[in-house]
Amino acid sequence: MGLELRFLGTGTSVGVPMIGCDCPVCTSPDPRNRRRRSCLFVKHGDGSFVVDTPPDFREQMLEERIRRVDAVFFTHVHADHIFGFDDIRRFNTIQNSVIPAYGAPEILRRVHEIFDYIGEIPGDNGLFRPLIRFCPMTEPVEVDGVLMTLLPVEHGGAPCYGYLMEADGVRVGYISDCSRIPESTLALLGDLDVMVLDALRYRPHPSHMCVAESVACLEKIGAKRSYLIHLCHDLDHGKLSGELPENMFVTYDGLRVTVDREGESAGEEQ
Ligand SMILES: [Zn+2]
Ligand SMILES: [Zn+2]
Ligand SMILES: [Zn+2]
Repeated sequence: MGLELRFLGTGTSVGVPMIGCDCPVCTSPDPRNRRRRSCLFVKHGDGSFVVDTPPDFREQMLEERIRRVDAVFFTHVHADHIFGFDDIRRFNTIQNSVIPAYGAPEILRRVHEIFDYIGEIPGDNGLFRPLIRFCPMTEPVEVDGVLMTLLPVEHGGAPCYGYLMEADGVRVGYISDCSRIPESTLALLGDLDVMVLDALRYRPHPSHMCVAESVACLEKIGAKRSYLIHLCHDLDHGKLSGELPENMFVTYDGLRVTVDREGESAGEEQ
């Protein structure tokens, strides 16, 4: 069956274009230089779920005409990854169900503190709020037939995770925010069909990998196909694409990647 990855947000925390910036990338006519904040939509058969709910979540769901979100997985508690969480309540209504949220225990605890009005039962004043069952991950979980394993990474000083996704013999690694991948996490990233990794800009940054660091790390991981994500306005899509080794690509909002074992290939649309 295979796994479909839809990249709904591929930009850094301020997005691209940035407010008040007239640089060539922020004013570029290339739609691939327009980047919302990080959100990955994962589809497996009839099931689908998201990784992170950024401030752009509502527009991302509308633009992709998404009708079903079986679960939310969180990577970390930075604003650019969580502040669209309230909009999940439309899916409570559509699906008539409580929706589980997954993540490392310390991440989910902070998300719940920030959204302290969100829980499993509707408000007693009749106001509608998201109905969420918080499910701290102490071991891998399976959702929609996809086995999800936490990938602890360094992201400046913030606790942060990526996810390993496995289904139908296919293996995908997704790490959107990261300054360094510990050896214990690298050990989980063998034999990958697709690896997605943070590459903020050309210059080094204390809490994100720069392009050179990311490319070196991706070469070490050696996935069949690798993708750069969480990009700032220093990076022009066309220029960066031309600078990458074979089988390394630059993500853009709207990119769909289908990963399946049958053709031993990852197809791209758009
Ligand atoms: Zn981020
Ligand atoms: Zn700019
Ligand atoms: Zn972050």
